[in-house]
Amino acid sequence: MVKIKSDAFEIRDYLRADLFPHFLCPGCGHGIALRAMLWAIDELKIEKDRLAIVSGIGCSGRLGAYIDANTFHVTHGRPLAFATGMALARPDLEILVITGDGDCLAIGGNHLIHACRRNLKMTCVMLNNEVYGMTGGQVSPTTTDSRLTTTTPLGNTEPAFDACKLAEAAGAGLVGREVTLQTPSLKNLIKEGLTHPGFAFIEVISDCTEIFGRKNELGSSPEMILRQKGAMRPDSYGNVVDRPFRPNVFETGVLVRNDRPEYAASYRRHVIAARKQTA
Ligand code: SF4
Repeated sequence: MVKIKSDAFEIRDYLRADLFPHFLCPGCGHGIALRAMLWAIDELKIEKDRLAIVSGIGCSGRLGAYIDANTFHVTHGRPLAFATGMALARPDLEILVITGDGDCLAIGGNHLIHACRRNLKMTCVMLNNEVYGMTGGQVSPTTTDSRLTTTTPLGNTEPAFDACKLAEAAGAGLVGREVTLQTPSLKNLIKEGLTHPGFAFIEVISDCTEIFGRKNELGSSPEMILRQKGAMRPDSYGNVVDRPFRPNVFETGVLVRNDRPEYAASYRRHVIAARKQTA
């Protein structure tokens, strides 16, 4: 059979086939998010040698291992700390941090606010599925009201973090949110992040079908993903959503663009000026 040559995105070109089969549960939203990230990288023609993926612990953190590039699987909550050092030492690299809601907002919350404050050139993609999936389904900082988890067997009573508002308040250069349902829009948002000359924070509304979905009786994977429509724009599709995935309607797309000076470049200028003074 003659293979027709095409410029179309082929995800296998970016994956480490020797690590397959992958660990993701069937229908997990993280697989869709991975596809969107690699699609964005492909469209921007970022060379693999120039691409550095840093990920933490959790189902989100394990995605990095499958990407055929420079990948760093680091300690829980610390991907932004590792990426900070990398951005200062290797400004030639394109840095993509992959993290989850627990990794980024609980254990790594401190690193997130300082990464936003410094505005270092990197893109942080936080996959929000409302739960610590890999470690057994515990409550996370984004678990919404009344949801059942292994540590909230009577229903969650803690208020959930709005990660985008937190990133905006801490000074992130670009803040955006998208759902996995809209994969082309998610890919475009990640491209915006990767081309932004500062810190880009992107929240991806993902689904943990196996642990969170099953415990909360949210239905099959397609049902969970389609439910994102209702939470995103409840009126524009004319759908009646009887049990929205998120109780509040949330905005998607680029939410904030803030052209502040990028920290590593400012730091290098400062060092050069200081050296000239002492020469
Ligand atoms: S436990 Fe949840 S988040 Fe982890 S792979 Fe399975 S469905 Fe995805």
